[in-house]
Amino acid sequence: MNMLDMSMVEPTIRTLATKFKFNCYKGIKCFNRCCGQADIILTPYDVLRMKKRLKISSGEFLKNYVYISIDEKSLHPYAMIKTMDGSRKRCPFVTPEGCFVYADRPASCRYYPIGQVTAMSRQSGGEAVGEESYFFITDPNCLGSQGGKEWTIETWRIDQGVDFYDDMNREWKEIQLRRDVPGHSLDDKKQAMMYMASYDLDRFKKYVFESTLLDLFEIDKDEIQKIRTDEVSLMKFGFRYLKYILMLKETLKTKQN
Ligand code: SF4
Ligand code: SF4
Repeated sequence: MNMLDMSMVEPTIRTLATKFKFNCYKGIKCFNRCCGQADIILTPYDVLRMKKRLKISSGEFLKNYVYISIDEKSLHPYAMIKTMDGSRKRCPFVTPEGCFVYADRPASCRYYPIGQVTAMSRQSGGEAVGEESYFFITDPNCLGSQGGKEWTIETWRIDQGVDFYDDMNREWKEIQLRRDVPGHSLDDKKQAMMYMASYDLDRFKKYVFESTLLDLFEIDKDEIQKIRTDEVSLMKFGFRYLKYILMLKETLKTKQN
């Protein structure tokens, strides 16, 4: 989900069955060039993986590596990787040896040279769900497309481990496609909550366990225990909570009394 230079985006929508050739390896002439032009929007699961890898809190990760970009239309806040060395778009994680966080690199780095879009569509039951489609990114500086192994978008996703990332982020992406319910646009408070629940998991955990939230909603004990001990469960609870406060779905039930 990079902020893409649109001149590099092929306008044709592709499917999982679309074939392409790509070969990226250490030693290729353009090695690391792509990471020198990074402008990357992070997803919640990207932050979870990278802060774990770096053994720092979500707050430290956001402070050190991220700036906030607000979408003009939706007012949704996004965490973007910030450059460290003053160069135009050089990713802070790129080293002469390659990506320092490679095993935990963000979803959009895994997808490259594919881009992914999610649009809302309705299933037969009437419920709106996110539908994913793909496009090619054609950067003339990237030599990877000059040959090599043949992939389909489906096999590429599996090879790069990004199918798993998509599973983790799917609900969050659906929240990004929300339309305002009249009278419930995104005020500053909700915007701040969106940022915290999406990206600042350690602070969100404090909020869940130190505010009155658990007194207000019916959440069973096993789930509370999971949220307390497992960060993925906490992240997914955050998505549920956001859907509730943004009035997208009644994902939580208030206690009777
Ligand atoms: S996170 Fe890694 S793969 Fe992604 S742009 Fe930065 S250095 Fe490159
Ligand atoms: S082939 Fe493309 S993705 Fe691989 S290092 Fe070169 S520019 Fe980056």
